[in-house]
Amino acid sequence: MGDPFDLAAGWLQEHLLIPALYACGLMNWEDVSYGWALFAMYGAAQVAVTFAVCLPLERWRPVERWPDAGAVWVDVAYTVLSRVGILPLVTYVLFYRAQVAVGGWMADRDLVPPTLEGTVPFLLGQPVLTFLLYAVILDFAEYWRHRLSHRFRWWWSLHALHHAQRQMTFWSDDRNHLLDDVLSFVWFGVIALAIGVPPLQFPLLVLLLRFLESLSHANVRLSFGWLGERMLVSPRFHRAHHGVLAAGQRSCNYGAVLPWWDMAFGSADFSRDYVRTGDPSGEEALATGTYWQQQRAGLRRFIRSFARRRVRA
Ligand SMILES: [Zn+2]
Ligand SMILES: [Zn+2]
Repeated sequence: MGDPFDLAAGWLQEHLLIPALYACGLMNWEDVSYGWALFAMYGAAQVAVTFAVCLPLERWRPVERWPDAGAVWVDVAYTVLSRVGILPLVTYVLFYRAQVAVGGWMADRDLVPPTLEGTVPFLLGQPVLTFLLYAVILDFAEYWRHRLSHRFRWWWSLHALHHAQRQMTFWSDDRNHLLDDVLSFVWFGVIALAIGVPPLQFPLLVLLLRFLESLSHANVRLSFGWLGERMLVSPRFHRAHHGVLAAGQRSCNYGAVLPWWDMAFGSADFSRDYVRTGDPSGEEALATGTYWQQQRAGLRRFIRSFARRRVRA
């Protein structure tokens, strides 16, 4: 007997993926389709675990209660689409292909692909430590990606979709504009390639980091205490990032999993307590529209962000 993920992935590959790939003339993707199916199963399990951990927390001590929580459903759709469909495809299939291509290109030029163990020999034979160090480096990269997405007007016009949600829950982590997702994947993927994350570890790292990111969006009065909040991003800490800004207030707490980068680069604020979330500057469709209404409104805002700059110049 194989494990249930293995069985489910095998079934999915045989009955769904291979027929679909052949129907579309994409037979050369068959070799990676099993991995995709496997990570789609892990993604589905991750959604189930996130639900099992976060829902009781949200019921236990919610920050807000809404008479009509209708806006949460679109976030559920974002999460399932992202975790089961897009993330396994990008972090396993495309990353694997990219690593093979880069490895081949470097081998042709007698270059050795970079690895963390190659740079830091102390890590040889320390797989757990190496895995954690990869997570720390990727989280550092994520901090700067996120901070820059608030800095540039065109990038903020896309990222604003993430901030539009006034009914923020653990489902809200994946509510992003598709173009913003593409930028994130390229950013994350290029850095993972540069530091030599092995192809199987990359989707596992994303599973781990995204689980903690879901938790940090939960609608729960949960702080990790003075020290804990400085070790790991808590729901209280990330809610402050989503808070509606008062006049003169600056955005804070960009960290995804570790608050260390905010502390090191002067963007941490541990004092904002369970603030109201949302982005009053955006149109209503970004907050309460359907999936496609949100995507279209985000695209309109993105296009306008360039037009406005031209008028000024
Ligand atoms: Zn943000
Ligand atoms: Zn967020």
